[in-house]
Amino acid sequence: MRAHAKLFLASSNPGKLAEYRALATASASTLVVELGLLPDFNALPVFEENAPTFVENAAGKALHCSRLWDGLVFADDSGLVVPALGGAPGVHSARYAGTQATNSERIEKLLREMRGKTGSERAAHFVCAIAVADRGRALAIVTDRVDGEILEAPRGRKKSVQPSGEGVPQIARRSFGHAIVLAPMATKSKKKRSAKKKLTSRKSKRAKPAETPKVSKPARAAGTDPKRVTAILARLDEAYGNATCELKHENAFQLLISTILSAQCTDVRVNQVAETLYKKYPDAKAFAYATPGELEQDIRPTGFFRNKTKSVMGASKAIIEKFGGQVPRTMEKILTLPGVARKTGNVVLGTAYGISSGVVVDTHVLRLSNRLDLSRNEDPKKVEQDLMQIIPRDKWIKFSHQLIWHGRRVCHARKPKCAECNMESLCYARDKTVSGTSLN
Ligand code: SF4
Repeated sequence: MRAHAKLFLASSNPGKLAEYRALATASASTLVVELGLLPDFNALPVFEENAPTFVENAAGKALHCSRLWDGLVFADDSGLVVPALGGAPGVHSARYAGTQATNSERIEKLLREMRGKTGSERAAHFVCAIAVADRGRALAIVTDRVDGEILEAPRGRKKSVQPSGEGVPQIARRSFGHAIVLAPMATKSKKKRSAKKKLTSRKSKRAKPAETPKVSKPARAAGTDPKRVTAILARLDEAYGNATCELKHENAFQLLISTILSAQCTDVRVNQVAETLYKKYPDAKAFAYATPGELEQDIRPTGFFRNKTKSVMGASKAIIEKFGGQVPRTMEKILTLPGVARKTGNVVLGTAYGISSGVVVDTHVLRLSNRLDLSRNEDPKKVEQDLMQIIPRDKWIKFSHQLIWHGRRVCHARKPKCAECNMESLCYARDKTVSGTSLN
């Protein structure tokens, strides 16, 4: 028997609903999906789509609306990302050039800003993310991207592949429309294809060598001149000499658990939950042998509580069974704990043990590293490698905290407070809000 699901799109746009209905009809899924617009969407409190990534915007909107509507809600966010121009969704999506701007105006603005950029600087990708949520719980997040490059001038518009007819600006090589149609996204996982597979697939699809998308590795950031980096570090010391981890903890184990809980959640919320959590579960043993359903409810306010419960219990068990009840002190070992990746490992090793294993790259460090031209990569792992090459090892721990503090207090994803920033004279980010270079 075919299952039946009713999903509400977090939008008031009938054209967008038509696109998703077409996709659902074309889908080979046995799930019967009935799609509709979220009733009275425009009357709901507005969700500000100002996160630094499309995924966070889609997930945030779906979660926000699902808390206000009793039913399954899905939301999306998509747009063109041009790393050479900063790459933030707020700059390269429909918000680019102002919400009233037409497609042509956005294209003109983009091409103006791309003037003089060559080679890998013209690299771009189209990103689309869809999230499904139910009463404040994220059920699924799917994302996909298509890589290409910005053309020197617009092509004639191809026939639109979208039922809405809005079309895709033909300013980029490769079929960016493929990403907007969404059909491939419904079946693809978040897992990225390997670079080798991407190249093989590109080669087989290409008829003319001239169409080869330039996908060379981003050039080493010009802003990594040692004198400039030293000046940035000095300004960070001046502004945030006492910067430290804002997750409250009494030991390495509590910091590990709080860091796991902090994924997609604010430190303030995690600290609120932690206040009672560590009284109820005082050590690894208490977490390892907790009742999963009960622990889920205890950490529910931090979001994604089912997966987090699995990670917290799994990490606690591993700490007891493999590491004698102590959080390991090396990156290699700490990465064997369920739910622990390099970011969490760096937070715990650096803050709890004072071990410089790497640089914490969270959403703030990622954004600021790009804005300050310390890295032109977008993958946190690559950004960390870039930062480890230019920041002295004895500064790795403090530097991460300082960038996070600066990102939270001054250099926000949307509308950074550049007039208050002591690095303003060193910063040439495209989305600066002073010196007449603001793009928003
Ligand atoms: S000048 Fe603006 S964009 Fe640059 S680091 Fe400071 S706040 Fe961020």
